[in-house]
Amino acid sequence: MVELKNSVINLKMYINGEWKEAKGGETRPVYNPATGEVITYASEGSVADARAAIFASRNAFEAGVWSDISAQERASYLLKIADKIDEYADELTQLETMDNGKPLREAGFDVADAASCFRYYAGLIRNPDGQTYHVADPMQAMVVREPIGVCGLIVPWNYPLLMSVWKIAPALAAGNTIVFKPSELTPVTPTKLFEIFEEVGLPKGVANMVMGAGPVVGHEIASHPEVDMVSFTGGTKTGKHIMKTAADTMKKVSLELGGKSPNIIFADADFETAVDYALFGIYAGSGQVCSAGSRILVEESIYDKFVERFVERAKNIQVGPGDHPKTEMGPLVSKQHLEKVLHYIELGQKEGATVACGGNRIVDNGLENGYFVQPTVLVDVKQEMRIVQEEIFGPVVVIQRFKDEEEAIKLANGTVYGLAGGVFTNDGAKGLRVVKKLRSGITWVNSYHPTYNEAPWGGYKQSGIGRSLGTFGLEEFQEIKQINVNLQVEPIGWFSN
Ligand code: NAD
Repeated sequence: MVELKNSVINLKMYINGEWKEAKGGETRPVYNPATGEVITYASEGSVADARAAIFASRNAFEAGVWSDISAQERASYLLKIADKIDEYADELTQLETMDNGKPLREAGFDVADAASCFRYYAGLIRNPDGQTYHVADPMQAMVVREPIGVCGLIVPWNYPLLMSVWKIAPALAAGNTIVFKPSELTPVTPTKLFEIFEEVGLPKGVANMVMGAGPVVGHEIASHPEVDMVSFTGGTKTGKHIMKTAADTMKKVSLELGGKSPNIIFADADFETAVDYALFGIYAGSGQVCSAGSRILVEESIYDKFVERFVERAKNIQVGPGDHPKTEMGPLVSKQHLEKVLHYIELGQKEGATVACGGNRIVDNGLENGYFVQPTVLVDVKQEMRIVQEEIFGPVVVIQRFKDEEEAIKLANGTVYGLAGGVFTNDGAKGLRVVKKLRSGITWVNSYHPTYNEAPWGGYKQSGIGRSLGTFGLEEFQEIKQINVNLQVEPIGWFSN
C-alpha cells in the first residue's frame, strides 16, 4: 500500500505557494468507490478561498515571475514535473485507483500520459510561433502570441489526474498563471500533482488549487473579473452555466463537454475486431468516458450475430475493485452517480427497450458496499428514446440497427452531441467517407478510443467549444497580438495644418 504524504491524507488547498485549510475550516469526505469507505477529507473551499487563489494568481501574473521568463525556463520546469510524475508513478496510479475506482491498468496509462503531456508542451512552447506580413512600406507588421493572464481551470472526476494535466500543462507552457479546481469527488491525485509543483519550485502564486463545490468555488472562478479565461471540462449543463456566467466579464471560454458517441459497424468489417473495440469503446472506464462509444450502430445483415457475440463477451468482463489484479472494469465513481445510471436503465425499460444483458447493481462477491454495475446492453431501442439521446456515463450501451450508409450517418448525427465516433469497415473509401460526414471532433476508423497528446481533442455541437491537446490546445491559452512598427519615423501629414 502506498504511504500517503501528509497533505494527501488531509487534503489542503494550495494558494500562493502554501498549503491552506479552508478559511471556514470545513472539510468534505472523499470516498473509495470500490468500498464506500472514506479515504480522506478534503478542504471545502468557499468564495473567500477562491478569491485568495485568484488574487495570488493575478499578483504572480502581473509580477511576471512566470510570463516574463523565457520559454526555455518554463519548459525546464515542465520537464522536471514530468520526471517527478514518472518518479511517483506507482503512488499516483494507486491513489487514482483508490479515489476514482478505475483499474490499476487504466490508472497507470493515465499517469504515463500525464508525464508525456508535460513533455509535449515543454517541447512545443520552444517552437517558432507568430507571423510576419509584407504590408505597405514603411511598415512592418507581425503577430506574436502572449499568455492570456489568469486562467481558471475546472475539471471533472473521470480522469482526475489526466484532465487536470491536459489543462495545466498547456496553460503553464503558454506563460499563464492558474486557479485550478478539481472535482469535489476526486481531489487526491490533483493534490499530489500540486505537491510536485512545490517540489520542483514553481514560483509561488503561479499554480493555485482551490477545492470545493462547483456552484460555489467553480462559479466564483467563472464569474470573477480578475480571471481572464475559464477552461472547463464536465457536463454540458454545467458548461452552459459557465458560458453564461463568463459572458458577464467577457472571458474567453473553452468547454470540453459530454457526448453520446456513435460507433458504426458495417457488415464488411472484421467482425471480431469490431466486437472487441466496441466493448472497449463502452466499458473502458466503466463507461465514464466522455468519448465512450455508447451508441453502437450495426448494419442489419449482421445485427443479430453482433448482439449475440457482444453480449457473450460483455457477460465475461471481470468487474471488481480497481486494485484487484484480475479486475477489468471497476465501480462507478459515487453512490449518487450509481443511482443516476441505474435510473437510466430503468427508464430505458419503461421506454420499451430490452435488457440483453446486465442491468443491475452488483451486490455479491464482496462488492456490495461499492458502486458496481453490470456491463449492460440495451436493444429494441428507438432513436428518440432518452437512453439514445442522453449521456448515461456508465457501462450501458444501446445497440441499434441501420440498413445503409445514409441511415447510419443520419442516426449517428442524430443527437445534440458531437464529441467522438467510430466506423468499422474493410472498405477504406467508405470508412473515410463516413467519418467525414460525422459531426464529431474525434473520430476513428477500425479503432476506438486511442488519443494522442499531439492531436486536438474536443467536440462539435453541444459537446463543446475549443480544443485540448496538440498545437490547438496551446493556442486556447494564448492571446494573439498584432504589432505594427513604422520603419520611417516622420509625420504622416494627413491634416494640412
Ligand atoms: P460536472 O459538470 O458535474 O462537474 C465538472 C466540474 O465542474 C467539477 O469540478 C464541478 O465541481 C464543477 N462545477 C459544477 N457546477 C459548477 C458551476 N455551477 N460553476 C462552475 N463549476 C461547476 O461534471 P462531472 O460529473 O464531474 O463529469 C462528468 C462529465 O464530464 C460528463 O458529462 C463527461 O462527458 C464530461 N467530460 C468531458 C470530457 C471532454 O473532453 N469532452 C472529458 C471528461 C469528462
